[in-house]
Parts: sequence; C-alpha cells; structure tokens
Amino acid sequence: MSVACTSGATVPAGSSGASTTVVSAAELPAPLEELLAVAADRQWFTHGDDTFDVWICHVPLDSTASMYAGTPLRLALTPADVAEVLNRQVTPYYDTLSHGLYHPVFNAGGEVQMAVADEPQACLDEAIAEAGAGTNAVFAVADADHGSSDPGGFGSVGEPCAVVVVCAVGATNRSAYIGAADFHAEWGDQQPMDLAEHEVGHTLGWMHSGVEDRGGYLSALDVMSNSAAPRDVDATRRDGPDTLALNRLLAGWLPRSAVWNAPTARGTVTLAPSMSAAGTRVAVVAIDDNHFLTIELLTADGFNDHLPADGIAVHRVEVSGGVVQNSAPLVGEAPYADLLQVGASLTAGGWRITVDAGGGDGPDAAWTVTILPSVEP
Ligand SMILES: [Zn+2]
Repeated sequence: MSVACTSGATVPAGSSGASTTVVSAAELPAPLEELLAVAADRQWFTHGDDTFDVWICHVPLDSTASMYAGTPLRLALTPADVAEVLNRQVTPYYDTLSHGLYHPVFNAGGEVQMAVADEPQACLDEAIAEAGAGTNAVFAVADADHGSSDPGGFGSVGEPCAVVVVCAVGATNRSAYIGAADFHAEWGDQQPMDLAEHEVGHTLGWMHSGVEDRGGYLSALDVMSNSAAPRDVDATRRDGPDTLALNRLLAGWLPRSAVWNAPTARGTVTLAPSMSAAGTRVAVVAIDDNHFLTIELLTADGFNDHLPADGIAVHRVEVSGGVVQNSAPLVGEAPYADLLQVGASLTAGGWRITVDAGGGDGPDAAWTVTILPSVEP
C-alpha cells in the first residue's frame, strides 16, 4: 500500500537572517544553507516536549464532501483513545529517530461535528480555533474512511512564528490529519502508525522524498516517502521506516559537525550509520543553486530492518524558495531498497561516488566513500 499524502507545508515568507546562530568554518552547499536558515526558526518545537491536541472529526453519514462521499463506515473514536495510541506508538518512534531530543506529546482535545459539505480542512480549522493556548499543533482523525483514490492524510508545518519561545497552534495552524483507515477493528490494538508518523514529520517541516512523476511516493528509505514500506516486507510492522539524514539535520537532531562537505576535487570520507548518534553521518556535494547530493550509510536494522542489506543511499535534493521540493533516491529503482554496495559506483550531478570499503554491524558499521568530479554519462 503506497501512501498518498498531500503536503500542506507553507513556503515561508523570506528566511531572513536565521543562519547567524551557527558559525562554521566550512560553508555547506548554498541550497542546504538556505534550508538550514529556514529550519533554525523551528527548533523550538523540534526539541523537547511538543504538544499536539488530538481531535476527532465526525463525518455525517450523508456527507457530500469529495473526501468522504459514499463511504458508509463510521468509527466510534474518542480523542482520549486516539491520543493513547499515538502516545504508545508515535512518541517512541520519534524518541528513537531524534536520539531522545524530540518528544511529541498527544493530549485529548475535542470533537468536531462536521457539516454535510465539510472537507477535512473545515474540521482542522475548528479544532485549531478551539485548541488550548499552550498547544503547539493539532492532530485530527476522521471517523470516516477516505475514497480509495484520495490521500490518506496531510500535514503542515504551519506559518513562521515570530515569537522566540513558543507559538500556540492558533497562531501557526500547525496541524496534521488522517482518515479512519488505521483505526479499523481488524487492526485490533496494533494499529499501523506509519501514516501518523509521516504526517507528524510534515508538522516538523519535513518534505517528501522519492516523489514520482505521477505523484506517488515509492521510496522504502524514508518515512516521508512510502511510510508503509516496512509492512510490505513484514506484515507485522506498524511503524514507518527511519528517515534521511537531511531531515535529522533540519530538525537539529544531527549536528552540523556530523556533515562532511565534499571538496571540489577528490575527497574520501568514512561514514557512520545515518541513524547512529555519533560520527560523520552524511556527506553533501553541491550541484547548483537549487540542487545538492546527500550520501549516507543506511543499515538494515531498527526501523530500517525491512532493507535487504546495509549500503550507501544517494539522494538528489531539489530546493526552491527555502523548501525541499523532492529528495530523489538515485540508487536502483523503486522502492530503492537495494543500496550501493562495496565496489560499486554511481554518477550523478557531475560527481562520481564510489564505495571503497564497508563493514561492521548496526551502530558499529563504517563505510568509506570517494567522491570526485565526473562528467555526466
Ligand atoms: Zn506527505
């Protein structure tokens, strides 16, 4: 099952001056510096407790909304029950991804009785208007399924916020929403939470990777692509895959010191696993004003235990207006689970990337990569 999800992220109105908090000897590729400048203003909610009000959207049986029309099922969901599931599954997922730096907290909010023609945003708007003043974001779940061709949900990082310490959801509209599908009785008390994890990722400002021409998200390498990829391999999996080093970097969970900026001539680097808590975890290479490459070691364990083997992932990141438009996996074909192995090379964006050596298990894995300029084949 591939996840269809509409990104509601907003292009910030100018990313002025936010990069002055970080001093580094080496400038990273210009579009990455642009992303980091925007992301710096989000650190107040990507660190520590991040409060979400959980709301239920009650959809009338005779709904005429395009998202719900003709769907007969209505689930007896309550904010407290849904908050319990999110706290039990989504919170530890993000505790792990952030190495304990980020801790989403889901509190029971309220319920919205939607009107016959209301689409999901109408429910979110009402929930945001009613949310507590100390709440950072709203997470809404409909009691109805979506039409089979509709997205499973959406999420938005909301508007930039001028207040230094904290901004309530009423000022930002930071929010996420999903339909009822993950709460069907057939899941019992083991509901899949990968879509919820994906939408929370959008509220952190993360954008899609592996975006296909026809609008699907087919990469198995990132919760922000096909979040259900692990379950495609192991039917018992309930969480999404891990995420990419770029997203950890933007959230401030991976320090700038963990980024290796490739020299303009030949360079060689030894990478620690992208998901580990120490070491050089991602190499970056400039392409042009709107593109750069990320090169990272993904290990087939933890939330990535659906991957067949450890290996090197390469993504071409496209940036416009301070927002990631796509992170395109460049190794292999969808779902991109077969990573670059020792001895293999890849040419992209005017660079040639060769895997020289690799070994070690789990967090002890270390792989060496050489990057040098090349002519596109
Ligand atoms: Zn999405």
